[in-house]
Amino acid sequence: MRITNRKRVMITGGAGFLGSHLCERLLNEGNDVLCVDNFYSGTKDNVAHLVNNPHFELMRHDVTFPLYVEVDEIYNLACPASPIHYQRDPVQTTKTSVHGAINVLGLAKRTGARIFQASTSEVYGDPEVHPQEESYWGRVNPIGIRSCYDEGKRCAETLFFDYHRQHRVKIKVARIFNTYGPRMHPNDGRVVSNFIVQALRGEDITIYGDGSQTRSFCYADDLIEGFVRLMASSDSVTGPINLGNPVEFTIKELAEAVLTKVGGRSRLVFKPLPQDDPRQRRPDIARAQAELGWEPRVQLDAGLEKTIHYFKQFLQS
Ligand code: NAD
Ligand code: UDP
Ligand code: UDP
Repeated sequence: MRITNRKRVMITGGAGFLGSHLCERLLNEGNDVLCVDNFYSGTKDNVAHLVNNPHFELMRHDVTFPLYVEVDEIYNLACPASPIHYQRDPVQTTKTSVHGAINVLGLAKRTGARIFQASTSEVYGDPEVHPQEESYWGRVNPIGIRSCYDEGKRCAETLFFDYHRQHRVKIKVARIFNTYGPRMHPNDGRVVSNFIVQALRGEDITIYGDGSQTRSFCYADDLIEGFVRLMASSDSVTGPINLGNPVEFTIKELAEAVLTKVGGRSRLVFKPLPQDDPRQRRPDIARAQAELGWEPRVQLDAGLEKTIHYFKQFLQS
């Protein structure tokens, strides 16, 4: 029997970069939050400020194994997200996406919980369509070094839609585009954290290729707002739905923006482009605007400032 009206929300991967922001947001809104993480790429430090909250529970668990808990909503974020992390143990990466999805979907089926999937713009691969709309099926190499992540996430989407069609599970699939902000890992090789850390340390800023490839960068708080709106939307809104910032920059422009903000002596140096690195990426967010009334608010300038502030303190600690 329930003795509280608080919603019980499980967040897998809750001790990661995005998960920790989501835990914070959902606690602030008066929910009970169960954070499930095996600390593969996340850390207890990311949620240390929450552990004394009586409505927060931290569980060490690997989602590739079954889990029996009673919850009302599930956000499935468990999966290493940066190439360095997901390529370290690629078999485990696919298992996390696929076995993890089966287990959390089984849990949602049994409990009737609504379930959100953190999918990715990587399902579009190296796209021939620009910007990417949800109706685009993608161009993914099935046997390359990024495939464990891309194909794992694609298979997870398949599982979400089949559990929805076959078992009427209430699904919410978000395709997340590059996101940045405080609590990114300093060493995970992602471009925003790399450039900021390099600039703060006065080291060379490493541009892969000629820096003409593009990405669009969404600030974490904006993205989390999109997650919460998608979860709160009516059952008919299943996604997939792009969440990201549609303002596109070249990687060289990003490097110059970081350098201007941080100042210092760093030089831009050019390194080889990794295999299968997408040439360009920008979300079409018309669906999120129409179905969720959502669009990003934080411009790159303001978001970079907050992120630089975080890394300054992090590097001093
Ligand atoms: P992250 O690596 O910081 O967080 C992932 C979390 O999942 C970590 O805490 C990690 O320890 C945990 N985890 C990994 N394998 C697990 C397992 N088997 N069992 C339990 N926990 C496990 O990455 P993030 O940037 O916070 O990404 C969160 C989610 O959003 C991921 O699913 C990622 O694919 C997706 N996403 C992120 C971005 C982005 O730009 N940050 C873009 C697209 C999609
Ligand atoms: N599962 C889980 N927690 C639950 C319910 C199911 O971890 O509360 C796992 C279960 O171990 C199973 C998977 O989810 O392997 C898929 O569940 P489903 O009911 O779809 O499949 P079945 O149990 O029939 O194989
Ligand atoms: N990148 C770069 N220098 C770095 C790290 C990344 O030029 O130090 C490039 C990378 O090759 C890619 C882009 O920045 O073209 C974004 O890389 P990230 O790993 O952050 O995200 P993803 O490739 O998954 O979009």
